[in-house]
Amino acid sequence: MPRRTASAAPRVPMPAQPAAERVRNFEEVALGYTFDMAVAEARRCLQCKRPQCVRGCPVEVPIPAFIAHLAAGDVAAAYRAVKTANSLPAICGRVCPQETQCEGACILGRKAEPVAIGRLERFVADQYVHVDACDLLTGARDCVPVDPSRRVACIGSGPASLTVAGYLSSRGARVTVFEALHEVGGVLVYGIPEFRLPKDRIVAKEVRALGTQQVEFVTNRVGGKTFSIRDLFEQGFSAVFIGVGAGLPRFLGIPGENLNGVFTANEYLTRVNLGRAYDFPNHDTPVILGRNVTVYGAGNVAMDAARTALRLGAASVSVVYRRTVADMPARREEIEHAREEGVIMQTLAAPLAFSGDERFALRSVTLQEMELGEPDASGRRRPVPVAGRTRELETDLAIIAVGTRANPLLLASEPDIAVDGRGYIVVDEATGETSMPGVYAGGDIVTGAATVIQAMGAGRRAARAIARRLGCPVE
Ligand code: FAD
Ligand code: SF4
Repeated sequence: MPRRTASAAPRVPMPAQPAAERVRNFEEVALGYTFDMAVAEARRCLQCKRPQCVRGCPVEVPIPAFIAHLAAGDVAAAYRAVKTANSLPAICGRVCPQETQCEGACILGRKAEPVAIGRLERFVADQYVHVDACDLLTGARDCVPVDPSRRVACIGSGPASLTVAGYLSSRGARVTVFEALHEVGGVLVYGIPEFRLPKDRIVAKEVRALGTQQVEFVTNRVGGKTFSIRDLFEQGFSAVFIGVGAGLPRFLGIPGENLNGVFTANEYLTRVNLGRAYDFPNHDTPVILGRNVTVYGAGNVAMDAARTALRLGAASVSVVYRRTVADMPARREEIEHAREEGVIMQTLAAPLAFSGDERFALRSVTLQEMELGEPDASGRRRPVPVAGRTRELETDLAIIAVGTRANPLLLASEPDIAVDGRGYIVVDEATGETSMPGVYAGGDIVTGAATVIQAMGAGRRAARAIARRLGCPVE
């Protein structure tokens, strides 16, 4: 097919479960391309001489190269190309905000819809998600033998640490990952819901694949409580990577926040996802189901909580936000999916107080009506209260999703690791090394709440620096 004609073709749509159907189950919403769809979409790529898409990718996936292989129908070669830069492509293809990264920079996007790079990455990765062989994991022909004298510890098992583990183990280091919870994966397992990122089919497979590179996972170990960083050096680890995320929830600070029925999104999603509360009583984690659910905040976390509550049978779910839908920080796709499923957007509204009954159960919330005033420091118009305009909204489950912060648990016992005023670890940007020699950090514990791919990018930078320190091959 001539390239010009192909690129002028419209973007191949992603098949999805119909909204009325998916709102009653936890199955994945987006169903993925078929081979023919993937090849047709790959053929829209212009194969630019100076491809901007790669610059938009925090881990620099060789995007034109993998798409060219796919356009030629060679999925195995496409997979190898992706894997040279991205150790978790089935995950990134699903949850990365491509519209502000690779696809946002795609040259085709200047005149038409950008190439659906994320969907293509997902397609390629899904064809190999069942394969744990080392050469397919790393793009290298054979697994590098692991050298037990080159020992690296990762604390936390989110995407930052998994990237460090994948990179270093494929270059011969012996990596051990210590995780506080009973499952490995960080937010990928306890935060992002099953209907966006299947846990057993995708996350567990990617983690198991790391096991073939002899990465050891030690769960139920809390850094700062059951072990310290100094203990790890005494046990013979040569370098330590801290990837503990920023999972300490923020609250609204309004009256009634301690009523039964008020949750942080963190606790609510952890119960439902990690504790499998959606499968009660087969799994014995209880959760309040809620008839009239309200969610506070408008990021991806808020959309995930709202859509989860709908799937658990709520009669109504409202997202309460002090600005407008256009200002919401969540991905457009998540906002659209939430609205299709019936989530109500209560915009230009801010919570003032929760009220309960005589048994301390949540019954309603008082909302302050807002309007947009002058732009603030972020350039966005500042929401200001409309005098005298409040209203009462019935709610028996309130989920607070207004952000998270650094958990001081690990660092309280490590005064040699410098943190900034908000408790995030200060690192050398090029290497990820902290103020304690041999200790590196990356992901949300350095940047504050960010994205999966940014955590992976930080993991990759730190892993390279650790590889140099240990004398492992770097590229
Ligand atoms: P995390 O994923 O937070 O993992 C940290 C791990 O460290 C956790 O498992 C934790 O239990 C463990 N830990 C913490 N303290 C200790 C300790 N002391 N000892 C041992 N282990 C410890 N990003 C996107 O790109 N796309 C999305 O669609 C998206 N949706 C999201 C939805 C939700 C609900 C949430 C909460 C976040 C979402 N994000 C999304 C953000 C993204 O998941 C995070 O930016 C990313 O996971 C950060 O990775 P990390 O490796 O730094 O830490
Ligand atoms: Fe293809 Fe877009 Fe990258 Fe150009 S910028 S190579 S069109 S994906």
